[in-house]
Amino acid sequence: MPVQKVLVVGGGITGSVLCLALAQRGAEVELVEISPQWFGVGHGITLQGNALKALRSVGVLDRVLARAVPFDLMRLRRADGGLLTELSTPHTGGPELPSTAGALRSDLQDALCDAVRAHGVRVRLGLSVERLDQTPDHVDVAFTDGTTGRYDLVVGADGINSAMRELIGIDAKPRPVGMSIFRVVAERPAEMDCAEVYYGGPRFKAGYSPISPDQCYAYLLDENLDTTLIGPRAPLDLLRERGAGYGGTWGKILASLPDDTAVDYRWIEAILVDEPWHRGRVMVIGDAAHACPPLIAQGAAMCMEDAVLLAELATGDEPTEKALDHFMARRLSRVRMVLENSLQLADWEIHPDTPGADPARIMSETLDSLTAAA
Ligand SMILES: Cc1cc2nc3c(=O)[nH]c(=O)nc-3n(C[C@H](O)[C@H](O)[C@H](O)COP(=O)(O)OP(=O)(O)OC[C@H]3O[C@@H](n4cnc5c(N)ncnc54)[C@H](O)[C@@H]3O)c2cc1C
Repeated sequence: MPVQKVLVVGGGITGSVLCLALAQRGAEVELVEISPQWFGVGHGITLQGNALKALRSVGVLDRVLARAVPFDLMRLRRADGGLLTELSTPHTGGPELPSTAGALRSDLQDALCDAVRAHGVRVRLGLSVERLDQTPDHVDVAFTDGTTGRYDLVVGADGINSAMRELIGIDAKPRPVGMSIFRVVAERPAEMDCAEVYYGGPRFKAGYSPISPDQCYAYLLDENLDTTLIGPRAPLDLLRERGAGYGGTWGKILASLPDDTAVDYRWIEAILVDEPWHRGRVMVIGDAAHACPPLIAQGAAMCMEDAVLLAELATGDEPTEKALDHFMARRLSRVRMVLENSLQLADWEIHPDTPGADPARIMSETLDSLTAAA
């Protein structure tokens, strides 16, 4: 029997897309989000075609594209800004969609939040799940605010440090991959028309993407620095120091950052939970089940694909546990391929002299194979 009442835990990209996909298929959906405010952080995200396809399937693509910047190219540059090569990027969402769009994360999340509310999802903020008790037919949930509920399916979409994962006894922890990232939102230089990446400089890599008509997102991939720097307000002077040595448009962006620029700094982590990602009628998806270094910009796309497929299978005619097994069979190899290739790219960026290292090849092979249906 298809699920009728579903609890989604976590209102990020995964949880929001899942709420929409379930509600559109007639399920009664509740969302609990631990944060008392529900909005996206302010830096950029690269949405590849398969992410755009998922957004189209839940009806928010037009709103996202009204501000995002679509492009079908990527340029690779030397550290001084000289052009190495220009690649056209595969249309992983189908030929009718742009291959890529750069977006401000908060624009994306606003579009998702508004749509979730408009679809009648019961949204509760500032709380989480305290306890779960399962029978073969349902899950009883006790929330941290003392309330309770009974559901046909509970989905943990609570991110890479998922508490839901732990609550159902999955023992998996994210691990650092050996690189960190500085991120800023900056004014978009007039010449910026697509994502560009700078190789061969003093750090692992620098790059940027346009994310709105007047904004861009710039980043620097570096070795892991002191953990006390981690957070949304890392020192701008440190970014200026670490990013010195990159020229071209990247150098121009760095030089023009105002002193009050918010610099987000974090170590990059990865995780892949062994199958199955569910225990009975409780499942984790999105970053709670798999997270990759953002070197192919496929993390959120994998999350959205999870959400759309899970909603489709869980509201189909199969018994729930069978639907969840089917979900695993459809998702695992695709997610693993993206994770392994992203880790390979991270390793080559950390060790650029590795014999046979060929980032452009692995990147385009990955995107080509993702062009096949999810
Ligand atoms: C540096 C970096 C750059 C990236 N760039 C890209 C990119 O360009 N393109 C791309 O496709 N992907 C990118 N990704 C990956 C992408 O950001 C993630 O895969 C995606 O945002 C994960 O979404 P999520 O909803 O699964 O998790 P999250 O975004 O972590 O959302 C989890 C939500 O659950 C809530 N929550 C947490 N704990 C609880 C709890 N106990 N109870 C209730 N709620 C809870 C949180 O508050 C949050 O709202 C990047 C990742 C990183 C780290």
